[in-house]
Amino acid sequence: MSQEQEQAFKYLKLIRPNDAEAMGIKAEAPVFISPMVKEGNCGFCGVHYTPLVYQTGYETRAQHFHGDPADWGVSGIFFSRGKPEGSLWVANLELIGEVNNLNCISEAVEVTSITPKCMIHGEELTEGLVVYKETPHLISLKPEFGLVPFCDVEPERWHRHKSITIPPSGDVWTFRVMDGALSFRPV
Ligand SMILES: [Zn+2]
Ligand SMILES: [Zn+2]
Repeated sequence: MSQEQEQAFKYLKLIRPNDAEAMGIKAEAPVFISPMVKEGNCGFCGVHYTPLVYQTGYETRAQHFHGDPADWGVSGIFFSRGKPEGSLWVANLELIGEVNNLNCISEAVEVTSITPKCMIHGEELTEGLVVYKETPHLISLKPEFGLVPFCDVEPERWHRHKSITIPPSGDVWTFRVMDGALSFRPV
């Protein structure tokens, strides 16, 4: 790895295990997936777009990759060279295989770490709570559901966070970050 190798990031979406199962992804804990999934099929190869799964220490490979520069927005895994601002889950990536630097898409990536940011205060977290919440999408601003992190792990203090409604059960986990990997425990 050269000293000048630029960093690559991607913001992720965290979903509940039952929502993952509904998408055909086996899961017993919350799962990180692509934040944006196109609808329909690829116009080049016909592959049906489905979300990809991301996990620290694992390689994620695009369903298809057609190279540059004509297929912007069609294939590969999107990344950014700067840290995505305002996103709650930021993955550090190692780019694998063919990379289209012009359009910032890669054939495959390995997640080297994932950093959660508190949805209320914006600070980076090493532990906290995730709750199921509707949030505006970072780019499209359309409302969407997902699990969002915040800094409080003490149940008796959750009520301080007026913007958060804690669901009655089943949709709350505590998390801990160890060496860039997250582990979840149901509350
Ligand atoms: Zn294709
Ligand atoms: Zn906070």
